[in-house]
Amino acid sequence: MERSLKPTTKTIAIRGLKLRCPKCNQAPLFGAYLKPVESCSSCGHNWSKVRADDGPAWATMLVVLHLLAPLFHFLIFKVDLPEWGPILVLGSLGLTLSLILLPRMKGLFIGLIWATGAPTS
Ligand SMILES: [Zn+2]
Repeated sequence: MERSLKPTTKTIAIRGLKLRCPKCNQAPLFGAYLKPVESCSSCGHNWSKVRADDGPAWATMLVVLHLLAPLFHFLIFKVDLPEWGPILVLGSLGLTLSLILLPRMKGLFIGLIWATGAPTS
């Protein structure tokens, strides 16, 4: 009986979230902030044809805005801050979280697209 060498979808998703090659986990998935490597330096898999399109941005906004919503409510209705206070706190926190989460979401989407065998460009 032949064993499949392809990792499980959960393993692939975790590798993508960790910005590692979803196939081998031995090399980085990105050569720049959001630019996937042409091919993996360890296993040689070609990642340039897997396009995540708008999925990572959508998922990042979904997570970040859900995290900020309770904080927004707290800062507006429970704390007496000057008008610029919530804008400064929510803006800087939202920007920071988005910049941290966006490449991880892209890694997740690239891994899931590959894992599910979805058509690539
Ligand atoms: Zn690899």
